[in-house]
Amino acid sequence: MNRIQIVQGDITKVEVDAIVNAANSRLAGGGGVDGAIHRAAGPGLIEECSRLGGCDTGSAKITGAYDLPARYVIHAVGPIWQGGQAGEPSLLASCYRRSLELAVEHGARTIAFPAISCGIYGYPLSAAAEIAVKEVVSFLELDESESLEMVLLVCFDSGVHECYERVFEDLCRRGRGQR
Ligand code: ADP
Repeated sequence: MNRIQIVQGDITKVEVDAIVNAANSRLAGGGGVDGAIHRAAGPGLIEECSRLGGCDTGSAKITGAYDLPARYVIHAVGPIWQGGQAGEPSLLASCYRRSLELAVEHGARTIAFPAISCGIYGYPLSAAAEIAVKEVVSFLELDESESLEMVLLVCFDSGVHECYERVFEDLCRRGRGQR
């Protein structure tokens, strides 16, 4: 699967058409990657978000990107980990799918994701990484017209990066795609 790249870095610096934010359901800004994105985008972003009426968990909404290098920010609301019996896996998968759909609908050809729900929301990292990679691989397999050129999975620290690499290699070995 040569349209996926796992990289370590700060998503606010990445030069892609759309970056995904791990937002909260009020789209009100917050800590972690959400705070970093709002700081880098400037005040226009929170002003636009405040007009969107929030967003359901498992879904996503798109805005402009203001002072960021990207054209769009896609605000995806991941589930808060509650032990795994509250629909967390399907809600997290749906965040990835909905974000990819929105990117394609808006003509974005490159998109970058953080590890949604893996910080303050407490989702176990390997389980979340597996969902992230599987959803992106499945989406790209169905995207026959190759409207998406590249999907970056941006890992903020080396622990997350190593975990994503391991999950991706396991998945390739099991035949779900190859880089
Ligand atoms: P959530 O509330 O969905 O758990 P967080 O922002 O707390 O969201 O964390 C999600 C992931 O984003 C974590 O792995 C965290 O290390 C990572 N992260 C934090 N800042 C950045 C950044 N600037 N770029 C990319 N990833 C980031």
